[in-house]
Amino acid sequence: MGDVPDDNERRRLGLDTQITRRDFVNGALVGGGGALLGAPFAGTLRAGTLVTDTFTGYGGVGDYAKANGNTWPVVQAAHRLRDGGYDAAAFATAKPAGDFDLVVVGGGIAGLSAAYYFTKVAGTGRRVLLLDNHSMLGGEARQNEFMVAGERLLGPQGSNDFGIPVSGSGSLADAFFTEFAIPREYSWQSWDTRLKPLRFARDNYSNMDGFQESQVDVGYFFGEGPDGKPLWRRNIWGNGLRDTPFPETARRDLLRWRADNGAVSDAQDRYLDTLTYKDYLERVRGYDPAVTRLIEPIVGLLSGVSADAASARVGRQLVEPPDRTMALSFPGGNSPFPRALLRGLLPAALPGKDFDSLMYGPVDFAALDRDTQATRIRLDAMALRVEHASPDSRGRRLWVTYEKGGALFKVGARAVVMASGGWVNKHILGDMPDDLRAAYDQFTYAPALIVNVALRQWRFLYDLDVTACRWFDDADSFGYCCNLRQTMSSGGQAPPLHPDRPAVLSFYLGLPIPGLPAAQQGAAARALFLATPYAEFELRVRRQMTRLFAAYGFKPERDIAAIVLNRWGHARLIEPPGFHYGRDGKASPLERVREGYGHVAIGHSELNGGQHWGSALEYGKKAGERAASKL
Ligand SMILES: Cc1cc2nc3c(=O)[nH]c(=O)nc-3n(C[C@H](O)[C@H](O)[C@H](O)COP(=O)(O)OP(=O)(O)OC[C@H]3O[C@@H](n4cnc5c(N)ncnc54)[C@H](O)[C@@H]3O)c2cc1C
Repeated sequence: MGDVPDDNERRRLGLDTQITRRDFVNGALVGGGGALLGAPFAGTLRAGTLVTDTFTGYGGVGDYAKANGNTWPVVQAAHRLRDGGYDAAAFATAKPAGDFDLVVVGGGIAGLSAAYYFTKVAGTGRRVLLLDNHSMLGGEARQNEFMVAGERLLGPQGSNDFGIPVSGSGSLADAFFTEFAIPREYSWQSWDTRLKPLRFARDNYSNMDGFQESQVDVGYFFGEGPDGKPLWRRNIWGNGLRDTPFPETARRDLLRWRADNGAVSDAQDRYLDTLTYKDYLERVRGYDPAVTRLIEPIVGLLSGVSADAASARVGRQLVEPPDRTMALSFPGGNSPFPRALLRGLLPAALPGKDFDSLMYGPVDFAALDRDTQATRIRLDAMALRVEHASPDSRGRRLWVTYEKGGALFKVGARAVVMASGGWVNKHILGDMPDDLRAAYDQFTYAPALIVNVALRQWRFLYDLDVTACRWFDDADSFGYCCNLRQTMSSGGQAPPLHPDRPAVLSFYLGLPIPGLPAAQQGAAARALFLATPYAEFELRVRRQMTRLFAAYGFKPERDIAAIVLNRWGHARLIEPPGFHYGRDGKASPLERVREGYGHVAIGHSELNGGQHWGSALEYGKKAGERAASKL
């Protein structure tokens, strides 16, 4: 992925910037045993934390600093499990660590939801143990935190947008908002009227084509013009693509595609699930292939694979009416949802009752796992094996073995909820029935990469008259879009929205590989994402930003305070045609997995197919209630 920068480029990109006292914005270096790893990382050190390995890189500050995406220790342990690295001899060393009514594997929204709703049904005195293999809860709904020039900045690691549930609708999301006093009206960073008017997205998707791009000031970069200068066009959809270099037929069909939005009936949905999105666009609708090319990276990010492998049902959902109410996000994305569940389970771990302390308060890690508590949450603990015990085990119906701090432990449980994804569960559920294994074998996954760049200032975007950018694939490009949100302000935490003040610029990307079958795309993309060191991604981000913005005054060594990568190896459950509703008269594998087996309930967001925070809450709750029924 890319060539080695020479000394000049290193200087220009800010890769060799010296660490100075002024730059230690978090007060101290907190390397966690990490060593200075040499020149490629120098650029990242300025923000205050030493990188701990060449994969994970800098993780920001605060409670989430060592849990940015899938970190190297977690990836290593998971691959050891997958490759059979824990044998019978290793399991025999597991130390007994007590008995529980419920053990939950996974501390994302689904796992926390399972534990929370389990205790509601089974009673708060029940002994519950929740294991998560990262150093912080929240799973894909975790956040990054930065301190830049005295401002605390938050950004989503992945899950970022939500819609406000309709009050009184009786939906689970509605009840959840009410129960945890999550407000339904918000204040946003104010925009100084003396500055020129600019429109911002309030989440990290609305800026993308097919969503609410017409409500955001988006710059489109069409490469370098004949004079070598960057060729920008602004808000291309607003004037019917007239300013773009797209050929006439491409323009016509892109506009048709953009207008082909809105809800479809169940019957249409089922029909769409019989073909690929590319087939739908080019064969059924007869659009110019330019349409497929334009939306390919968005389909790739949100479905995991290219349009020739994703179901048309999934692709079609990505086109929304341009005037739809814009989606929202909290400063740290959807992190308040798992934090609310944590507070519900263990109020002392996230003290306070109001929403501001829910969003911004520090977690009291000591309150997660005390001997005296009925509910215990164990972090940095990786479940390795779950299996039913013999029938004469006096109420202890399952054994759960996990690793923590290099040692193996074994607990008894009366029920288990697997709130981890199928790619993990397949290797953990030692006595899984054959039909469940066969169903899981049809689950395939694709990765996503979310890069949050903490900027000291963003006048270069202001001078370009935009708050988000889109560019098109060529040999030198990295990603396809970036976005600077107008952030929710609350509880005195309101970093100013001003081009000369710090902000977070987010890059969301998948890696679709057209021409490959869906499962192979996911595997190949994951291999590439996992084999690429942090330094390589850092270089690509800095080069991309320089190419886009240098002509508008951007200076990487001056303007970038920190770059955090959030790698999600299995971000998306891939849904090729026929997966969602089943093929050849056979039920979807989703249905089999939802059933679980014995005293094991399964409750990850993927059981919905398309994953979102609400499906994590829903399937976690169902699994928790099912587990309670097994007591
Ligand atoms: C990049 C990205 C963007 C997204 N954007 C949005 C969005 O904008 N809006 C939205 O609503 N949804 C979004 N989602 C989806 C949605 O938020 C997620 O589906 C949801 O947060 C997942 O919750 P979960 O609990 O089901 O799973 P996860 O968050 O995956 O949680 C599972 C947890 O289990 C842990 N675990 C795994 N194996 C083990 C083990 N062996 N032992 C112990 N712990 C283990 C994992 O580390 C993780 O912490 C996004 C997802 C991604 C990846």
